[in-house]
Amino acid sequence: MSIIWKPRLDPDAAYWRDLARELTEQHFAPLAPILDRDQRYPVESVELLQKHKIAGMFVPKPFGGEGATLTSLCAVVDEVAQGCASTAAIVVALPLGGFPILLEGSELQKRIYLGGLSREGVAVNFALSERGAGSDIAAIQTAATREGDGWRIRGEKCWLGNGGAARYYIVFARSDEERGVTAFLVDKEQPGVVIDFFEDKMGLRGTLTSNLKLDTAVTDNAIVGTEGRGLRLALKTLSVGRVTVAAQSVGIGIAAYEAAARHAVERKTFGQAIIDHQGIGFRLADVATELSAARMMTYEAARAYDAGEDIGVLGAMAKLYASEAAHRAVNAAVQTLGGFGYVKPSPVERYYRDQRITEIYEGTSEIQRLVIARAIKTSKDKA
Ligand SMILES: Cc1cc2nc3c(=O)[nH]c(=O)nc-3n(C[C@H](O)[C@H](O)[C@H](O)COP(=O)(O)OP(=O)(O)OC[C@H]3O[C@@H](n4cnc5c(N)ncnc54)[C@H](O)[C@@H]3O)c2cc1C
Repeated sequence: MSIIWKPRLDPDAAYWRDLARELTEQHFAPLAPILDRDQRYPVESVELLQKHKIAGMFVPKPFGGEGATLTSLCAVVDEVAQGCASTAAIVVALPLGGFPILLEGSELQKRIYLGGLSREGVAVNFALSERGAGSDIAAIQTAATREGDGWRIRGEKCWLGNGGAARYYIVFARSDEERGVTAFLVDKEQPGVVIDFFEDKMGLRGTLTSNLKLDTAVTDNAIVGTEGRGLRLALKTLSVGRVTVAAQSVGIGIAAYEAAARHAVERKTFGQAIIDHQGIGFRLADVATELSAARMMTYEAARAYDAGEDIGVLGAMAKLYASEAAHRAVNAAVQTLGGFGYVKPSPVERYYRDQRITEIYEGTSEIQRLVIARAIKTSKDKA
């Protein structure tokens, strides 16, 4: 029985958690080492996510989805990440592509794209980053210029999570030197859109991370939200997405901690279980405490979002703390297992590699600290 703090979920969220737990135990976790070894995208797992309506769970019911809360989504990501961090990353990437449409898309865009995701699993991808613009998103060079009644988009996007598997891309492009960046929906089947290669990654090797080259035409109907306000939309989307990355971090951290705790109770050195050596027992006590705190922050951020509260700072804090707590958890797990933690088939060496991205994507730890530091400067609230 785990001592990690457990969220008290409402019946809906508990339903989604239980469904995710069952699918993870039966399908996702057994597949995880194979995906990692072969660097293979789990088409069969994505079909299960679709069949069990997890893929479009966050889409509101009027658009064919399940209208699930962010708390329910986090409960799913937390469970899936305990068995397969790659599959959890796929679950995280789906709403990241869908949220810009949910937040600011037109009724027609919601019907077509969110409806397509929830009914047929046709994914939309969030295409913000470029080689020269990751943290500094205002530096993006992809340009949208007026061409006839529409636009020509030229440029290159990189590191697209679910890239290649997704049909549509929300491409953030500089539409005007003064008025800034606009978000455009682009179909990968349209002329001038090329997915030209996939990254060979340290971890999350069951995910596709692709590069996208663009020299393509779109109409005004492709604009998501307001022309020139794309960066604001990207930041709004990321502030929600960060909470799901926090949940993914918690899940990976828990998987590592549980493996370490089991080993520490079973493994004997110098005549006693290694958990009874204070150096090991205290380390695992710290990990259990930090993961519990990380989980509390994550579910509190999700609850706050579901209640309509602003989660700009709390979401950044949850992502920062959960990803770094998970880092300490996977490190402690490798150390607790000793040589067994460094070699396959022990899963902890995979957890060690899979965890690392949670401190990088959807804003690095430094960027989360930047968000929090800026809020310190401007806040006038009483604690
Ligand atoms: C597997 C994977 C999946 C991804 N998925 C997507 C996706 O789906 N869509 C998408 O658009 N992008 C995606 N990304 C991109 C990801 O969001 C960026 O890699 C990330 O934001 C960091 O940008 P960068 O790599 O350019 O690093 P840089 O911005 O170059 O940063 C380098 C280092 O400098 C630090 N740094 C930068 N600025 C500051 C500052 N002001 N103060 C202090 N430190 C600073 C950073 O924290 C980092 O440590 C993905 C990346 C990976 C690896």
